[in-house]
Amino acid sequence: MRQPLVAGNWKMNGSLESISLLLQGIKAGMGDVKRAAVAVCAPAIYLPAVQQQLQGSGIGWGGQDVSAEASGAYTGEIATSMLKDFGCQYVIVGHSERRAYHGETDELVARKYAAARAAGLIPILCVGETLDEREQGVTESVVARQLDAVIQLEGVGALADGVVAYEPVWAIGTGKTATPEQAQEVHGFIRQRVAEQDATVAEGLRILYGGSMKPDNAQELIAKPDIDGGLIGGASLNAADFLGICTAAN
Ligand code: PEP
Repeated sequence: MRQPLVAGNWKMNGSLESISLLLQGIKAGMGDVKRAAVAVCAPAIYLPAVQQQLQGSGIGWGGQDVSAEASGAYTGEIATSMLKDFGCQYVIVGHSERRAYHGETDELVARKYAAARAAGLIPILCVGETLDEREQGVTESVVARQLDAVIQLEGVGALADGVVAYEPVWAIGTGKTATPEQAQEVHGFIRQRVAEQDATVAEGLRILYGGSMKPDNAQELIAKPDIDGGLIGGASLNAADFLGICTAAN
């Protein structure tokens, strides 16, 4: 039985004051979260503050991106060891905003996944098609290509150490959620593709849905057999909304 995971992606939002209030709110409501593992992925500069507030709370935390390199002349980058220094358990790799605005390729994302894994972090690998790609009917080949980059670099066993997040780009921050059926179709495809290479890894792999997940649609989505939780953007910035999604996985 896979334990659901609900991870917040705060993106470039918040202040020292607002994240403190947000975390207080989430911690206060955690008693109602029965089944899901819960984590927040914060802007890197706030990770020390997040660590201070979440240590011992049962809520995990992580980065939103990481360098594929270990250290050196990479101005502005954050290394996996630095995330580890501040107690991170998770890191998002290959978010569509990184792919679109920072030119991250499948190969680079796979290297980031490998670096995170080597450091003992749990990489959350984002995959998903744009609206154009969906309309062209190439959703599965896009998702397969993004997934295969990791499998080619590291072998299918690498997926046992990570989490996949299916995030249709057209659903992110738009208020347009994939229907539970649309999401399940792609989640099922991902699990099947992994199962063709290793049935055990496929069975244990957590595949999260991301894209305008809210308390009122989370339950239907998470009820689908291959949807194991959510990666939450906008709704993770409000404690009641985020907790509503976490409890939808109960
Ligand atoms: C995301 O950015 O990972 C995301 C799912 O955003 P939103 O929930 O706001 O669509």
